[in-house]
Amino acid sequence: MNSAGSLENSSLENNYDIVIAGGGMVGASLAMQLSGSNSSLKILIVESFPVLDSAKNKSNSSAEIYSSSFDARSTALSFGSRKIFETMDAGLWESIARHVNSIQSIHVSERGRFGSSMMTAEDTQWPALGYVIENAWLGSVLIAALKEKQNVQFCAPANVAAIRSTQQGVVVDVEENGLRQTVKAQLAVVADGANSNLRKALGIDTSVNKYYQVALIANVSFTKSHQGIAYERFTDEGPMALLPLADSDTNDARAALVWTLDKTEADHYLQCSDAEFLQQLQRRFGDRQGEFIRVGERFSFPLQLVEAKEQARSGIVVMGNAAHSLHPVAGQGFNLALRDCACLSELLLRAAENNMPLGNLSLLQSYVAQQQQDQQKTILFSDQLPKLFGRKQWAVSLFRRMGLLLLDISPAAKQAFIKHTAGFNDGAAGVINSHQARGL
Ligand SMILES: Cc1cc2nc3c(=O)[nH]c(=O)nc-3n(C[C@H](O)[C@H](O)[C@H](O)COP(=O)(O)OP(=O)(O)OC[C@H]3O[C@@H](n4cnc5c(N)ncnc54)[C@H](O)[C@@H]3O)c2cc1C
Repeated sequence: MNSAGSLENSSLENNYDIVIAGGGMVGASLAMQLSGSNSSLKILIVESFPVLDSAKNKSNSSAEIYSSSFDARSTALSFGSRKIFETMDAGLWESIARHVNSIQSIHVSERGRFGSSMMTAEDTQWPALGYVIENAWLGSVLIAALKEKQNVQFCAPANVAAIRSTQQGVVVDVEENGLRQTVKAQLAVVADGANSNLRKALGIDTSVNKYYQVALIANVSFTKSHQGIAYERFTDEGPMALLPLADSDTNDARAALVWTLDKTEADHYLQCSDAEFLQQLQRRFGDRQGEFIRVGERFSFPLQLVEAKEQARSGIVVMGNAAHSLHPVAGQGFNLALRDCACLSELLLRAAENNMPLGNLSLLQSYVAQQQQDQQKTILFSDQLPKLFGRKQWAVSLFRRMGLLLLDISPAAKQAFIKHTAGFNDGAAGVINSHQARGL
């Protein structure tokens, strides 16, 4: 097995049950689900970025960034995602939870208009509506857990260069330090992100809907305690989310900002002084959190909805951002992908118990069919929310304000919204419950 950052080549075996191309948040989570204590599956994960040794140190709060998933961003995990993580290795959620901040309330509002809505954990039976985690920490915990496993081999930095279907399964070319090795597997998982080169090489088409906006992200501090409130604020320039983070070493109240903007405006805010940035943020967000006092490094991500037109072929399944990459405003992309992983892993583990081939097309198609409703609902929600709040027409604006008021006063509307954002929509609840029931 390759040690982190080593320039030696990994001694790959000739055969695996499953090869996962991409060890980002989705590839790593799927590997965790497939390699539980009752699993005898032999799994290879190939990741382009080097995996640093510091990831082994679970107590290291300043985990190093090593892949595009585990970057400077934070992720709002739904309560449903917590349930899925709890079904993985004993102690995994506790390790993750060491650096999460729970979301006790979600405040939805529109800048310059009356009408807002507040949903709280008390509206549910749950301890929290969700949790905010810095991606780098989630990555450290997942990789450290995977490295403990006898049946998982992590090969990084290395690239999956090609995947070919054969009568017996798949043949996967892995490039490491300029050398190409070929391995065989029953199933190859394509989890190499939104710009998936492997998906392109396989000739899988996508539908792309450009939002012509980017997400500017940064960690910000302010003077008032956030008290676990996450904000969704819709402004004329685009939606903005403020996700409450665990306090910093200096005890500042902090949050992860996701600010959707036109590219030219975002370019300006990426480069302007901290003082100007904080002033403009204050103007857009208002003073609910007191005064914004600090901003960390700023990054931007282009926004588009990308959907693969095929997610399953004989011996191949496309997962995560490679299958569907969503607008981040509602914080649904990873949560949806985790439910996909839960559904797929359940089917694969059952197939393995019954000695069925893991790359069987009908098996993979049944995964796609089971997740179709959840995927469609979640994609629609993430796509329509920013569009609804982006429209300036008088009638739409009135409808929006009425909607926010309704959400605030109607327990049924609130429950439906919370269920959706927490990953318990009609399509999603089934996979979480069944996963828990099987103790996976
Ligand atoms: C600004 C922003 C905020 C977000 N906030 C949230 C949120 O709050 N909640 C939520 O649920 N979701 C959120 N998301 C979505 C979430 O980040 C994605 O769903 C998630 O990162 C997808 O992970 P992935 O592993 O599929 O893809 P990626 O993160 O792109 O990972 C792909 C991995 O594959 C590797 N790779 C690429 N090519 C190869 C190859 N040929 N061989 C081997 N490895 C390869 C890459 O190095 C990378 O590590 C947000 C997204 C954005 C942009």
